Amino acid sequence: SCGILLSDEALYQRDQRVTKHRPATILAIPALIAVVACLDVPTQSAVTVPRVRAQQMVGDWVVHIDGGSFRNSIELFRVDTTSGGLTLHDLQTRDWAGEQQSGLGIVWSSGTVVNGGVSWALHLADGSEGQMSWSLVGDTVFGRLSFPGSLTDYALVGVPVSLSIVPKSTGPVPAMLSPQDRVPLVLLRVDDLPAQDRDFIPRLMQRGLYGELAIPTALVGMSGRASWSDVAQWHRDGFAVAAHSRNHSRTNGSPQIFLSEVVGSLSDLANRGYGTTLFVQPGTWEDSIYFDTPEKLNNWRGAVLQTFATVFEGYARPASVSLPMADSMAMGVGHFTVSNGAPVATVLNWWQEAQRPARFTVFMMHSWSLTSPDQLDWFLDSLALAMRGGRIRLAHSSAEALYTGR
Ligand SMILES: [Zn+2]
Repeated sequence: SCGILLSDEALYQRDQRVTKHRPATILAIPALIAVVACLDVPTQSAVTVPRVRAQQMVGDWVVHIDGGSFRNSIELFRVDTTSGGLTLHDLQTRDWAGEQQSGLGIVWSSGTVVNGGVSWALHLADGSEGQMSWSLVGDTVFGRLSFPGSLTDYALVGVPVSLSIVPKSTGPVPAMLSPQDRVPLVLLRVDDLPAQDRDFIPRLMQRGLYGELAIPTALVGMSGRASWSDVAQWHRDGFAVAAHSRNHSRTNGSPQIFLSEVVGSLSDLANRGYGTTLFVQPGTWEDSIYFDTPEKLNNWRGAVLQTFATVFEGYARPASVSLPMADSMAMGVGHFTVSNGAPVATVLNWWQEAQRPARFTVFMMHSWSLTSPDQLDWFLDSLALAMRGGRIRLAHSSAEALYTGR
């Protein structure tokens, strides 16, 4: 590995020499590019709909009920009209530990359209009778679940779920890895879909490289961003797509915002034909939704990610983990940021770590943060050389680490 390291250094030094002879204008493109970064945009504005039609409620809804035994889990409901009126069915979810959950235990339900929403009468498997009110505001339902006869009365919030987002299933863990599976696996993740990706992504493709695009779905096509037709082209070129929230806001995430940003962005991609079970946490999330420890996932938010994501890329786990990636590591796996002014010596250390046997390592790049478009060419050259030499495998997405050897 020492020889590999030297050759990487050689590649870097060669690029430095090349850069020296280039006109200074390339280096003079100033740091104001960095401002485009992670823009602070409010979440979808709420519009009150005074009259609700039954048909508007038909479909799947993910709901968080804030209280009692429901507090740490989520509910996934299917609303249909197959029996004539509105009926509500439980769908399976997972709790934060990944265990299957069957829901409220609805054995009978009836929904009545009222002003601005639906009033539900529920008979549950334990013999209890519940009442649930839903008010539709924009694409979100707000309401309460109560059990007359007891004092139970909880607030709830829910958002629609694209029918094509199917809760995940995982395969068995293999006893041992094959020799092929011990070759280190590397993922290149390109975040935020800035307009600079139009220059950066071709640099990957020229070298036979590919990776995962982390997309804030509400920002695509906006000023300073690439477009959906860019996404379509890059997807055809071999790049995988991951949801990276809708608005990439600086937020500490109310239940409404968290559901809308996570399930909403996964649904947005699914509705455009890019069904994915990969979610990448924005670095702009704060407090209880800045997932920098595993414990921060031990609640209903973890249940949302367990239910809808096979891999949640966050800050709660290392950037380099052993193969096959354990389910626990798949909830919060980190990344090394090789852009944003990372020192070359640091990047070289990470790159050496990534080349150890049976490792999976995520390298993340913000093309908007590069001081010149060719700043990372030396690193891309190193990757391409290692890939051609069979010293690493390149992953199209983080899910490949989960299924290696399975
Ligand atoms: Zn981001």
